[in-house]
Amino acid sequence: NAKNHRIEANAFYHPSMQAETERRLDLVRNLRSDFLQRRLQLWFQPQIELGTGRLVGVEALLRWPQADGSFIAPDIFIPLAEYSGLILDIGHWVLEQACQAMNEIAGDVCDDFRMAVNVSVPQFRQNNFAGEVAEVLARHQVPAQRLEVEITESIVMDDPNLVARVLQQLKAQGVRIAIDDFGVGFSSLSYVQRLPLDKLKIDREFVRSAHTHSGAVIIETIINMGHRLGLQTLAEGIETEAQADYFRQLQVQQAQGYLYAKAMNLEALRAYVAANPCV
Ligand code: C2E
Ligand code: MG
Ligand code: MG
Ligand code: MG
Repeated sequence: NAKNHRIEANAFYHPSMQAETERRLDLVRNLRSDFLQRRLQLWFQPQIELGTGRLVGVEALLRWPQADGSFIAPDIFIPLAEYSGLILDIGHWVLEQACQAMNEIAGDVCDDFRMAVNVSVPQFRQNNFAGEVAEVLARHQVPAQRLEVEITESIVMDDPNLVARVLQQLKAQGVRIAIDDFGVGFSSLSYVQRLPLDKLKIDREFVRSAHTHSGAVIIETIINMGHRLGLQTLAEGIETEAQADYFRQLQVQQAQGYLYAKAMNLEALRAYVAANPCV
């Protein structure tokens, strides 16, 4: 983008910059090869109905394990996957894995349970993203109602008209749309009424600032707006009972966070849903 360009053009050459570039290229090479060797994993984090404690969904989250047992964080490798174009193949794989996982747990979860999948800008710019989603769902015989697509503001900003069109197509199939990390960007309010959204996910940063006066004002404004627009609301990054109580009192329907569970692999998810079956 233009800003980075300017910085690069004006910057003095420094060996550490070349080292940084090489480190990134290395990461992309490793990511491509690990993806092709099926070493990426899709993990799942529960989403809980605040009023009842019921399991109402999971968010699918990519994990990239390393030989030493550590993981490279998605915040590091997702941008590289986007930049390199790898995210198209990885994103397709994520959809496939999410559908497979959905089928494995469908017997234990409630009818309104949803599998949430994060989607990146390049996926939206593909020729026929909504068609690809429909094809994968149909092949796995997963009802579209089971799928929730999470988009961020960067997607919306990229090409608002294209995004609105693709979201309408997804929505027409029955797929649900959540807006992720809500409130972090600068233009959230202008598009929220123009897109066919179902859910607003309140960013973890706001959740963390709930104990301050200005934090509470912002959170309560976001929630109020969500309610008045008829959107579901979910609080991200809930770590304490006090936070859960706070959002419950504000009539936020759902929560996700370490208080309930961290992301887990499919095997652990199977055990989790079996231990928390729909009643
Ligand atoms: P996100 O979509 O906002 O996902 C929520 C992130 O918050 C996850 O980080 C999750 O592990 C973390 N989290 C959840 N509850 C808590 C909590 O109580 N405390 C704290 N400290 N953190 C919590 P993760 O898995 O590292 O993912 C980071 C980001 O990477 C995601 O943010 C999403 O934007 C992106 N990402 C992950 N998987 C995918 C994917 O399959 N496709 C795409 N395009 N992006 C992905
Ligand atoms: Mg998300
Ligand atoms: Mg989020
Ligand atoms: Mg995030």
